[in-house]
Amino acid sequence: MPEGDTIPHAAARIRAAPAQRVPDEILTPHPRHRGAGWAERLAGRGVLAVDVHGKHLFLRFDGDLTLHSHLGMTGAWGVHRDGERWVRPRRRAWLIVRAQPFEVVEFDGPVLELMPDARTRSDPRLASLGQDVLGEEFDLELFLARLRQDDPARPIGDALLDQRTVAGIGNLWKAESCFAVGIDPWRRIVEVGDAEAVALVSHAREHMRQSARDGFVARPRAVYRRAGRPCPRCGTPIRRREQWENNRLTYWCPGCQR
Ligand SMILES: [Zn+2]
Repeated sequence: MPEGDTIPHAAARIRAAPAQRVPDEILTPHPRHRGAGWAERLAGRGVLAVDVHGKHLFLRFDGDLTLHSHLGMTGAWGVHRDGERWVRPRRRAWLIVRAQPFEVVEFDGPVLELMPDARTRSDPRLASLGQDVLGEEFDLELFLARLRQDDPARPIGDALLDQRTVAGIGNLWKAESCFAVGIDPWRRIVEVGDAEAVALVSHAREHMRQSARDGFVARPRAVYRRAGRPCPRCGTPIRRREQWENNRLTYWCPGCQR
């Protein structure tokens, strides 16, 4: 599943390919977007910028048009040189941006849409996003204020996934940050102090930024997808259970996370 650090890594690769250039061709092979007319609307327009906010990626074209994607659990961006093998079949691609010798490709996900650039700021889904966990600047007071607006009974692990509170934390980083800081992801928000909440988001931020830079080699794996195996800190078997309304799986050590 894409995490917030996957997206800036993809964006950096896309920037190195067609950014600042007019793509040679834009294709939408998958039936979902085949009739959308994007090739015609984007013909001759250069890519001005590739921006990221949390798990959202924006390809900003000349003339106030922006392609907005959210990868959800299933989507992927890829950058391939001509002739390279793709991880998914070409006919299933939602978008192909050809700028020789590169092809930038997007597959699946809940959202790929072309919109006026101004709407990327006014659309309620986007305007309500919390701060990007990976942003250069991060206002901890604003993060705490958003967290305290959430349901106080919500488990802190699940609250970290709420993109209105902080944008970009996914399931892996939620579980690993709670483990690293020693906080039980089942603790309710109301039972988590400000200093603890700050420690959680700061840990996620520091390690996700490192991972985005280094291409995930720095991703920790103490508890995530390690149910039943011994905790690296105390040896207690790691547990796994679904959390809150979206039933997102969380992993934790009942021995040393309080
Ligand atoms: Zn433990």
